[in-house]
Amino acid sequence: MRIKIASHSGFCFGVKRAINIAEKTLKESKDSNNIYSLGSIIHNPQVVEGLSKKGLKVIKDITNIKKGVVIISSHGTTIEAIKKIRDKQLDLIDATCPFVKSAHNIVKDLKASGYRIVIIGDKKHPEVKALLSLAGRKTKGNKIAVISQTTQSKNNYLKGVARLLKKDFNELRIFNTICNDTAHRQALTRELLKECDVMVIVGGKNSANTRRLWHICKESGVDSYHIETDVELKKEYFSGKRCVGVVSGASTPDAMVQSVVKKIKRKRGI
Ligand code: SF4
Repeated sequence: MRIKIASHSGFCFGVKRAINIAEKTLKESKDSNNIYSLGSIIHNPQVVEGLSKKGLKVIKDITNIKKGVVIISSHGTTIEAIKKIRDKQLDLIDATCPFVKSAHNIVKDLKASGYRIVIIGDKKHPEVKALLSLAGRKTKGNKIAVISQTTQSKNNYLKGVARLLKKDFNELRIFNTICNDTAHRQALTRELLKECDVMVIVGGKNSANTRRLWHICKESGVDSYHIETDVELKKEYFSGKRCVGVVSGASTPDAMVQSVVKKIKRKRGI
């Protein structure tokens, strides 16, 4: 059995940046008991666990926080949460990915120009919640603008845009806010699907971009398994298979991908 690993793996720029910000804050802070991240700083439980061993505390909201530093995750947060942090005079460190920030700026400009803003993405995801809080709830008006969650697949986005085209409007503005890293990983996944008869997708079960890769694989009809670590691999995944493709999400460390590949080799006696 051949093993084909996507040529682009490991952390994306935004995830690497957020981890560096968290590690620097942990190292330099004089009050190491009060360093918080609002939500998981990135969506990879094993990496978050590593940071929490160094002292980073993940919180869902800041209601009970009285002092210290709050780090905004790579996904960004709502304007209401930012206001609460400022009102409580906590130190705020922003690790929002610059690509996500760029989507924020687009939304702010569109809102100021009176557009109804449509966001295509998972409304429970922190990135989309933040975009919704910036966009407001304007439901009337015939100037419409549409943007995407940064980790959306292009196909889904295009389907959403096609639905909007059927609505009544005078003007429709379409922004491509899917980040380059996401687009690149999805394209490489589609390439591997042409050659492989089983796919292993490595990354957090809570990671939107990893789950998107898994959906792309499932939709193709190829047997596909989304795992977080090598421990989840089963020998039967590879029984009778000719080629396994290994892809990973943007918040998956390279070392995790390498240990998955090693384990596949061991299981297959390669
Ligand atoms: S996947 Fe893209 S948008 Fe998300 S953190 Fe990485 S670079 Fe930023």
